[in-house]
Amino acid sequence: MRDNYPYFHPLYAGQMLKPPHPVARAAYAMAMAVNPNNHALDGGRASSAMEIEAVREIAGMFGWREFLGHLTSGGTFANLEALWVAGQILPGKHVVASAQAHYTHQRISSVLKLPFAAIPADRWGRMNMEALASRVAEGDVGTVVVTLGTTGLGAVDPLPEVLALREQYGFRIHVDAAYGGYFKLAGNLAAEARRAYERIAEADSIVVDPHKHGLQPYGCGCVLFRDPAVGRFYKHDSPYTYFTSGELHLGEISLECSRAGASAVALWATQQALPLVTGGEFAQGLEASRKAALLLHERLAGSPDCLAPMEPELDIVVWAVRGESVEESSARAQAVFDEAAARDLHLALVQMPASLFAAGAWRDAQENATVTCLRSVLMKPEHLVWMDEIWNRVKDATHAALAKVKEER
Ligand SMILES: *Cc1c(COP(=O)(O)O)cnc(C)c1O
Repeated sequence: MRDNYPYFHPLYAGQMLKPPHPVARAAYAMAMAVNPNNHALDGGRASSAMEIEAVREIAGMFGWREFLGHLTSGGTFANLEALWVAGQILPGKHVVASAQAHYTHQRISSVLKLPFAAIPADRWGRMNMEALASRVAEGDVGTVVVTLGTTGLGAVDPLPEVLALREQYGFRIHVDAAYGGYFKLAGNLAAEARRAYERIAEADSIVVDPHKHGLQPYGCGCVLFRDPAVGRFYKHDSPYTYFTSGELHLGEISLECSRAGASAVALWATQQALPLVTGGEFAQGLEASRKAALLLHERLAGSPDCLAPMEPELDIVVWAVRGESVEESSARAQAVFDEAAARDLHLALVQMPASLFAAGAWRDAQENATVTCLRSVLMKPEHLVWMDEIWNRVKDATHAALAKVKEER
């Protein structure tokens, strides 16, 4: 296990990875002595009650009191359930999502045998509303997936505009907030993102991942439906699972059968310690992350060696390294990544459409060109305290990488 990156450390600023909260770890470990199964009350009475309570708090964060929801093994399975329900209600209709949406939406649609179409992203990485409007006008769209916090860029799709289109065309809206959902609690979002989060309660279904920004060990996603009546689609008559009572068994409203009750115990305990309220300690952590991202972006935007095309909407920063061509910039990003790692700063690389950058960033850029960029997910509050240190290492790594390029010439 020594062969890992130091995910806990502020200088690990690459992918969406961090250790769970100590409360979550302790609660999970304690629950392991029982190893409850949240499929049925027979398998986990206390942990099922904790799941119901914890999920109610998450739904409350989005403004829902009446809803149907439960935990899942992760965001992919939660999205699968949401799109499965959508397909039950609107069979054969298209699922559409932005080109920057999570790659699994297309694959899930294929598993569910629902036709899928990608909507191009605009230059901020959000779903392009003109493209969406003309796509839904074709009349065969059943569900629009709106991503609040894309995995690559942390972009927030314009939910209010999608809601306006729904008035006209009557499709379902599924909000994929696996990564960004908890930013509902952050008090320092820009106005546009704020407006999207404020309307989240009008979605038909929502997915959020407690194992991303919710301080949980892996194996914890959450799916919520605005209409509790969708529970009818889950009906099945297993002859062996439900004996103890007429009370709700979570397995009756879930596609998965066995699930770790320990996940619910860890989540419940964490939310006891850090309630999901605006202005609370948990919300302040998210605010610190966004502030760190804004600071890093500001410094990158002021650097002659970097192209920082958009202000981060959440806590993910993406930038390119200047170069004559897309190929040169891509190679330089890789070199900066390596030089940063040599300085114990762990960043990530991501492929982005060159069209996200200002016209003329590269002379040769073809229409569908992609460029390798650096990406930093600043999801630990400590990133803010460490920002000077992080920036110094980014700067040094960039200088070192560019100096090597000059030498080679
Ligand atoms: C991470 C992520 C997913 C997939 O969730 P997993 O928990 O990794 O299965 C889906 N959508 C978005 C926006 C994500 O960031």
